[in-house]
Amino acid sequence: MDIIQLLPDNIANQIAAGEVIQRPASAVKELLENAVDAGATEIKLIVQDAGKALIQVVDNGKGMSFTDARLCFERHATSKIKQIEDLFNIKTMGFRGEALASVAAVAQVELKSRRKEDELGTYLEVENSEVKLHEPCAAPLGTSISMKNLFFNIPARRNFLKSNAAEMRHIVDEFIHVAMAFPALSFSLTSNGQEMFHLDSGSLKQRVVQILGNNLNSKLVNVSDHTDYLNIEGFVGKPEIARKTRGDQYFFVNNRFIKSPYLNHAVTNAFDQLLPKESFPLYVLFIELDPSEVDINVHPTKQEIKFEDEKIIYAFVQAAIKHALAQFSVAPTLDFTL
Ligand code: ADP
Ligand code: MG
Repeated sequence: MDIIQLLPDNIANQIAAGEVIQRPASAVKELLENAVDAGATEIKLIVQDAGKALIQVVDNGKGMSFTDARLCFERHATSKIKQIEDLFNIKTMGFRGEALASVAAVAQVELKSRRKEDELGTYLEVENSEVKLHEPCAAPLGTSISMKNLFFNIPARRNFLKSNAAEMRHIVDEFIHVAMAFPALSFSLTSNGQEMFHLDSGSLKQRVVQILGNNLNSKLVNVSDHTDYLNIEGFVGKPEIARKTRGDQYFFVNNRFIKSPYLNHAVTNAFDQLLPKESFPLYVLFIELDPSEVDINVHPTKQEIKFEDEKIIYAFVQAAIKHALAQFSVAPTLDFTL
């Protein structure tokens, strides 16, 4: 007797969701990135109970057609890549078509969306990967997705969530990563009816100061270096504001926040003798390079990436920071090699 069978969609989606949506903050990241990919200029995040009761993202992006609004909840449904070659030239934050399918497998989801060419928008309710309602409705331009009662159907996962304070910290982190990467867009974050962040569009420096604090205004050193291979832009904090704990350290590669102990080392190393022992520099750095030089498809949350040539990037980052520090004459010696 044959014993293998294909899992039903809702189970397959729930399993996949385990990788993509680990906590409320993971859903926040996915929804914010979708809004950015949709070309929105104004993005609002609304949460209740640290995302356990509600996570809603409202954008004024390009919206979805009636049929796309239904299809976006299918697994591997994406408008962002079409063929295998596209995987090596990704310019959007998303590309796997997994986020909304995952969200719909583990929460009660409502979507409202309208494109500018449509008079009527679409309203959809999805629960347990099942569409409950799909009808035309009046809607503002753009998309609003709300997910209620995350993990309502997976009690083990729900119980595993941390305190509201801890989950909220994760949400704020994800919010900051996206908001920092796109200073030209305006963002807000409202938690339990209270606005925590209201970020108007502006320059990167304005955004950094808006998020990390006004007192930083005179403490940031501009980093800006360019080669044919890559560009680096951003800021490092003057050594005097280095902290004892690893706090505000942000690396973005092609606008994607990443964690890289290796590149972190490059920055710290560039500070050399300037830093007091056991202290960590503040930095917000953006590296831009040809998408074919990075593989972002190595981790479900895309926070780890692989560079074709990690050593070049290390050397470049280190040189760019030294260069910046020297220009502001806070570096004692200079061995600028690039
Ligand atoms: P991915 O972002 O990897 O394509 P998602 O599951 O996050 O996968 O989204 C599926 C598709 O739904 C997207 O490719 C996009 O076409 C559409 N979509 C999702 N969110 C939005 C949004 N806020 N505005 C417009 N379209 C959206
Ligand atoms: Mg997405």
